[in-house]
Amino acid sequence: MSITSNSSEIPPKADHSPGSLFIISAPSGAGKTTLCTAVRNRFPDMLYSISHTTRSPRAGETDGKDYYFMTADAFARKIESGGWAEWAKVHGNYYGTSAEFIDQGIRAGKDILLDIDVQGTFKILKRYPDSVTIFIMPPSTDVLRQRLETRGTDRREIIETRMENARQEMAQAQHYRHIIVNDNLETAINELISLIERHRRNPHQP
Ligand code: 5GP
Repeated sequence: MSITSNSSEIPPKADHSPGSLFIISAPSGAGKTTLCTAVRNRFPDMLYSISHTTRSPRAGETDGKDYYFMTADAFARKIESGGWAEWAKVHGNYYGTSAEFIDQGIRAGKDILLDIDVQGTFKILKRYPDSVTIFIMPPSTDVLRQRLETRGTDRREIIETRMENARQEMAQAQHYRHIIVNDNLETAINELISLIERHRRNPHQP
């Protein structure tokens, strides 16, 4: 059976068993969006935490699907009211994960996928220490730069900021429970899906 096959469904959780958090981090350009999409397609019963951000939408992004886009004022109000499970400033913009969404999902026994940066992961781990953390590593910084340049969505200064950020994030990868090197996309997808499947079947494994 192929690992990406949808034929083996994850059995529903026993009553009152809380959901698990799966956190995926990666530097921009490491292929995280594609990998997260593959996970979401493979496990449609998992919830996906749509982040909130103060950055402007990129071409093709939709409010409520890719992100909830909001003003810096509204973001700050939610910091004051304790509404974020975590929040961080990334590349000059604010990003946050709704505490209400995560807490409700976990209580309902739902597994939740989060696509957040390294700072956010450490904050989530303080609050939810059993989270399964996965870092997606690009094969090299040269390949990462090439991918950012060919993507063509960012100006030169932004690419430089993202490269610097990537170096800092990659230096923290050792603190993640799992590291997947995205050298070959299909292999990386299969690795990611099989590790999530293993954890979902047996949430107590290391
Ligand atoms: P982008 O602007 O390229 O979509 O995302 C930039 C970075 O922000 C990515 O590394 C992404 O993982 C991170 N990010 C997205 N949403 C959140 C969030 O809710 N919290 C944190 N801490 N980081 C986030």
